[in-house]
Amino acid sequence: MKCEFCGKGGYGKTIDERNYWNIFLAPSQRYLGTCVIAIRRHCSNLSDLEDIEWKEFSIIVREMEFILDEIFKPTLFNWSCFKNSAYRVDDPDPEVHWHLIPRYDHEVEFQGIKFEDPDFGFIPQPIKRKIPETVMKCMINKIKTYQQH
Ligand SMILES: [Zn+2]
Repeated sequence: MKCEFCGKGGYGKTIDERNYWNIFLAPSQRYLGTCVIAIRRHCSNLSDLEDIEWKEFSIIVREMEFILDEIFKPTLFNWSCFKNSAYRVDDPDPEVHWHLIPRYDHEVEFQGIKFEDPDFGFIPQPIKRKIPETVMKCMINKIKTYQQH
């Protein structure tokens, strides 16, 4: 069980696997282009991350912000590490993962679907929005075309 932003089935659809982090397209696309960056080993706290993991994460931050900027032109990016929902069960087992949430002060369109950000200027709301599988795949392919490593 992960968190309400990621969904119960896990973190979403894999975009890429790096040495220390996996990059996913989040199952909910209330905010167009929302991704999850999850540590690959079991690690519960940011303070337990190794330097080399921070280093790779910083590369991913630069890369993903650049790519999402190119594709969706968001107004800003929210980065959050909540882990709250892991503590709603008796035996909490949180995993470090970051939510990369592009935020928009304007309506955007992708593959004929309109996206608004009704919460712009405030913390993102854990309200699920599913979009068709074909559109999810299209988004992943588009992000991949920009990735180079
Ligand atoms: Zn999450």
